[in-house]
Amino acid sequence: MPMVKEPSTRWAWVEIDQNALRRNTRAFKNLLGPRQRLCCVVKADAYGHGAVQCARVMRASGADMFAVATVHEGIELREGGINSPILILSEPPVSAIDELLDHSIMPSVYSSEFAMAYGERAVERGLVGRYHMAIETGMNRIGVHYSQVVEFRREIDFHRGLACDGVFTHFATADEPSGWDYKLQCKRFEEAVAAMQQAGFDCGLVHCDNTPASILDPSTHFDMIRAGIGLYGLQPCERTAPVFPLSPVMSVRARVTRVAHPVMGEGVGYGYTYRVPRARVQICTLPVGYADGLARVLSNRMDVLYRGERLQQVGNICMDQFMVAIQQTSAHEVPEAEVGDVMTIVGRDGDAEITMDEMACLRGTINYEVACGFGMRLEKVYL
Ligand SMILES: *Cc1c(COP(=O)(O)O)cnc(C)c1O
Repeated sequence: MPMVKEPSTRWAWVEIDQNALRRNTRAFKNLLGPRQRLCCVVKADAYGHGAVQCARVMRASGADMFAVATVHEGIELREGGINSPILILSEPPVSAIDELLDHSIMPSVYSSEFAMAYGERAVERGLVGRYHMAIETGMNRIGVHYSQVVEFRREIDFHRGLACDGVFTHFATADEPSGWDYKLQCKRFEEAVAAMQQAGFDCGLVHCDNTPASILDPSTHFDMIRAGIGLYGLQPCERTAPVFPLSPVMSVRARVTRVAHPVMGEGVGYGYTYRVPRARVQICTLPVGYADGLARVLSNRMDVLYRGERLQQVGNICMDQFMVAIQQTSAHEVPEAEVGDVMTIVGRDGDAEITMDEMACLRGTINYEVACGFGMRLEKVYL
């Protein structure tokens, strides 16, 4: 196993493969024409991969802009030396306006209250309040309703402190671009943009594609795409996998902190949800738990990799640790583990692999949530 770096204070870590990140970023950039831009979505600490370091790699691989979810995520990028445009994907509270202007972070805008306060404050400070206008086209989450965009712009555009740098919407069903729901959102978006342009309003960058739409429907790339999950090498849906190969960026590994040989009938972990079924079972402890994103629902269901083989996780996953069993059978003699041996929780080990998708499936969720979770407390090492 290629082990070049790990943290000094904990025998558990997340590995980030920067070459994979580079490859994935370039793959999205290559979908675009020379005038089209790539906005890399690095919200939630780059889906758990570390926002500042990922943004640096993406910047060097063709990212034109970054999108985040919160003001603090934007400030973290600025403090990390990222000077590309940064967009917040929803409208922050009015009380955040000074911080937006301090760090030149663009909000999404869809209420005239926010827009007016933002414009006022920008004028007071001798600045321009740049923003992207979010348009509601069917997801029913955020944005100005598609039928009211011209009205909205009439309400706010007189303000000399405001500048519209872009207009966008977000798809609810981009994994099915031939579906009626997707097509209706496209139609509403295009009509809303056309109506604003006809009324003489500047739209700036027109954008709507997330990862699946970027891959599956080039007709909606417009001026910019907003790629997230795919940059991290994870497929947003089944349809994209065969047409757009990506390289997984995150692996999760840990070293065995203890080995034991409890006798038959002994229990393991809280509640003894696993009992040693026979002689010659080795129980290994690994220092990763549900507070690190390893959801407790995976207890007694997930595997880890050791020397290219699968081992069964046993007992309830604790907050900070979990156990695995190495079971010797007469048919299958396996090597025993020793304290300090590396095991793989997500990623490759030899020919074996545990993917984010496998874990997502066991958890009843999507790879997005699994990746975000591992970023919460585990230290990241950048390979
Ligand atoms: C999260 C998000 C994206 C990125 O979505 P992916 O499916 O990860 O590519 C794009 N646009 C908006 C508005 C988002 O909230």
